Amino acid sequence: MIDENAYDVVVVGAGFSGLYAIHRIRQLGLRVRCFEAGDGVGGTWYWNRYPGARVDIESMQYSYSFDDGLQQEWRWPEYFSPQQDLEAYANHVADRFGLRSDIELNARVNRLAFDERANRWHVSTENGHHVTAKYIVAATGSLDAMNLPPFPGLESFGGQWYHTARWPKEGVRFDGKRVGLIGTGSTGIQATPVIAQTAEHLFVFQRTAAYSLPAYNRPTDPAYEQAWKADYPQRRAKMFGHFAASYTENDQYRSVFDYSPEERQRILEEAWSARNGLLFMRTFSDISTNLEANEIVAEFVRGKIRATVRDPKVAELLCPTTYPIGAKRICMDTGYFEAFNRDNVTLVDVRANPLAEITPTGLRTTADEYDLDIIVFATGFDAVTGSLTRMNVTGLGGLDLREKWRDGPATFLGFLVAGFPNLFMIHGPGSPGVLVQMITGGEWQVDFVTKIIEDMERSGRQRIDTAPEWEQRWNIEVEEAAKRTLYNYADSWYVGANIPGKPRIFMIYIGGFDRYIQRCTEQVANGYEGFVFDESVPAAPR
Ligand code: NAP
Repeated sequence: MIDENAYDVVVVGAGFSGLYAIHRIRQLGLRVRCFEAGDGVGGTWYWNRYPGARVDIESMQYSYSFDDGLQQEWRWPEYFSPQQDLEAYANHVADRFGLRSDIELNARVNRLAFDERANRWHVSTENGHHVTAKYIVAATGSLDAMNLPPFPGLESFGGQWYHTARWPKEGVRFDGKRVGLIGTGSTGIQATPVIAQTAEHLFVFQRTAAYSLPAYNRPTDPAYEQAWKADYPQRRAKMFGHFAASYTENDQYRSVFDYSPEERQRILEEAWSARNGLLFMRTFSDISTNLEANEIVAEFVRGKIRATVRDPKVAELLCPTTYPIGAKRICMDTGYFEAFNRDNVTLVDVRANPLAEITPTGLRTTADEYDLDIIVFATGFDAVTGSLTRMNVTGLGGLDLREKWRDGPATFLGFLVAGFPNLFMIHGPGSPGVLVQMITGGEWQVDFVTKIIEDMERSGRQRIDTAPEWEQRWNIEVEEAAKRTLYNYADSWYVGANIPGKPRIFMIYIGGFDRYIQRCTEQVANGYEGFVFDESVPAAPR
């Protein structure tokens, strides 16, 4: 008799990678169930519905490549899509490929326990589901577990407060309200100008100034859309061979030192107004690897801030000086710096005068008190590992994933963790994750995992794992790649520095998406080198 609660594969998360994983696993003819915490699909783009939320990669490429019909029929109204359009796209994909019947919504997984004897994972959710599966695909996202620092007094606050990563679906009205916004990363920078439009007054509490580029978002030009659609297969193929999984027509760039100061200025001005977003960071080949080259570009960007913000003191405070440009994720904004020219926006320096406590009527820094009706926390995420460690995952011998990663995450190729058999992570620590265009990166990883599962099912192998030695080797590769860059010069979420007590380790493989594909592929081609199959495990009935 078939046990209805026994699946071949459980996918955790119905974000972009999770949706594609359901689709691919079904193609293998396996039984799959997906558990999703939200009451809709889209993952990051379901949860992050704060004002101004928008992707920073052009939508023609920040989209699925696996089905040409899909990419031909879908229309992106804007160059850089707002959250609403990305969520609509995720829903369209769920409907178009009939995925909903295999998705359980409102079902946050809160326990994943491996049963060694049965060779199956037990999956439990907060709302009482309990199923088993032979394989787990953890498509839990890199930026899911929100970071709400323990500000003293929050429970006493008499107004409303929100975290940007759990924004209410019905939205929030700011008109006539005094609003405090804490955090000036990508999220705070996008939210600021939108909140400023209607709030009576907006106080932006800044601890660290951020580098931000103008998004130049605009309606999609039909000719541009047509050029993409006519050339999609070729462009997608190039993306799979590109170090950032992205497509660009001009990757011919040279060292900043190959040019005179005047030429550099001209090239930077052109790049600044080229309206192609993050590609600005590739204007020269050494921006991310040479501090001196980096400072030239950083100073150019500071010059743009000074030219935009009228009050020189505010402008200076908004100029990032404590880390190299690009060592934290560069932000893209629509009118962020301009917002500080409004009478109803005040920048508060909480580096000089830290936040002391939340009070019943607002917020107190070590210097002043602020009366507030609404507090918005744009304080980021327990990134990359948080969504995995918060799930209560136990593997062989009851080993707890949090314990295993106490001194920092260890994985093999970003997919597997020794002692946690048959559990595959998508965008896990040690994978290129957020440093590449994530939909394409996720597609490739899902395909890779699906291929492994297919091979196992064909060969009758029951259990796949890796060994600590291979985790160490991979960790060294990840570390070596990071050392060649300037990423370690910033206290960012990339290195876990935003979460007190989190081990400081660069969690992402920055050696390039192309190189990563090569490394994964060669390990499999070399007879699954580094993967450990336990041949003693017999095939178990469901
Ligand atoms: P974030 O980059 O981690 O920024 C969090 C902000 O909160 C920082 O300014 C941080 O200051 C501040 N903060 C945290 N704790 C604080 C405290 N106790 N007191 C005062 N300030 C505090 O988080 P995020 O802005 O949500 O962005 C996270 C990532 O999500 C981005 O890097 C990006 O990858 C992604 N994202 C992308 C987009 C897009 O596609 N356009 C938009 C939003 C987010 P410090 O810097 O001093 O720690």
